Amino acid sequence: MEHPQPSTLSDLLHSPRPLTASVSLPFLSTPPPPPSHHSTDHRILTTLNRPTVIVGTLTLPTHTTPSSSHFPCSCFKFSDGSATVCCDILSFRLAAIGKQIRITAWNFIPFKHPGDRGSRTGFLEIIKWCFSDPNESNLADIFQFTPSFPGTNCNKGGKNFRAVHGVVKSVGPISIVPCATPASGVYDLNSSSKVNLLGFLVQLLCCECRLCGSRELVNNLRNGSFEIENVNGHSFTKMEILYFCGNASSFHPVMTKLIGSRVVVSGLKKKLVCLTKEESCLMYLTLDETVLRVCPRLEKLTLCLKSEIKGKGECGSYTGVIRGVYMKGMALELDNDVWFLLTDQLHTMIHGLRVGSIISMRNVHFVDPKFSWTKVVILGACVKTSIVLESFSPLETVCNVVLQSTSMLGKFIQSLPFSTRLW
Ligand SMILES: [Zn+2]
Ligand SMILES: [Zn+2]
Ligand SMILES: [Zn+2]
Repeated sequence: MEHPQPSTLSDLLHSPRPLTASVSLPFLSTPPPPPSHHSTDHRILTTLNRPTVIVGTLTLPTHTTPSSSHFPCSCFKFSDGSATVCCDILSFRLAAIGKQIRITAWNFIPFKHPGDRGSRTGFLEIIKWCFSDPNESNLADIFQFTPSFPGTNCNKGGKNFRAVHGVVKSVGPISIVPCATPASGVYDLNSSSKVNLLGFLVQLLCCECRLCGSRELVNNLRNGSFEIENVNGHSFTKMEILYFCGNASSFHPVMTKLIGSRVVVSGLKKKLVCLTKEESCLMYLTLDETVLRVCPRLEKLTLCLKSEIKGKGECGSYTGVIRGVYMKGMALELDNDVWFLLTDQLHTMIHGLRVGSIISMRNVHFVDPKFSWTKVVILGACVKTSIVLESFSPLETVCNVVLQSTSMLGKFIQSLPFSTRLW
């Protein structure tokens, strides 16, 4: 058998066309999907004519101070020393962040950087991977937002820290919130001394049992009486809101991957956040000391992937194949006469929304527009909607990298009877 040759990202960026490759030839383990009448005009991705691996490091996006020239995607990044590109990864593990990984099956879709005319970049779809150091696959899925350095006082305010144990239900888009400086005690969104803070909201269905009360859990994690491996005795009943703000906003792709997973987040602060002059909401805010733990993969709670569709604006999940991408990525045609309408710019920046991809949409609204001439279902995205790529497209189709979204569709969508924005 031919020995796999390493490929570098800079080589791939010079490739004139999208590629697919794997460590073994001639074929990827996933055969191309059966041809349908929609996909006949798309060719299958060109397979690199030699077995290959890519070795590099998976990292989180860095959201610098928001500016108009900022490329507003929220993808995982992958660097191999020759270049850094946006990527998405199947079989994600928290332990892989910051680690060197070997990618043994991938697609690479080059595109022009929308914020920087002419410069070439691309999207790496990681299909199969492993840790470069096989021992690292046994690492616990735990991540501390800011690694504590010896000598820093990480117990500062420690007794007020809270922890929560729950199942990730929804992840909102990243938004820029003009906010008072955290030093002032309460986050007042209407304060005159405003800073622009990036952040996103996560809904967590939490356990409130004897072990998991938000004050007790901190101690129970410390003294070992709480074991994340053990799910027995917990019941997830109380919806809590976590606000990942500041540096923690780079966790957006991670939390999106974790929808439906059981997590423990510690090192949080409970705060009253003023939304408007009259309205405020008690939520948990991330701090520099925040630690995220993910329960072992084996018991990922099975979500109902196809909700019963009534078409009255109810919220649910749906999985389908993308058949067409229209209106700069804001309208996706799925199989079975289902249309998915996206309003948020962050959603339209998910590069992997290519024709042929299988996506699963969490927390979408089902709307039956009751057209007299045809039967279609519209899935409407809202601020709680998340899109997860279940399988990358084997077709040579373009990435979704529109920088500016038009407001036309947004207006149309607002005229539809979706539930009102909650957040
Ligand atoms: Zn990106
Ligand atoms: Zn519990
Ligand atoms: Zn909604």
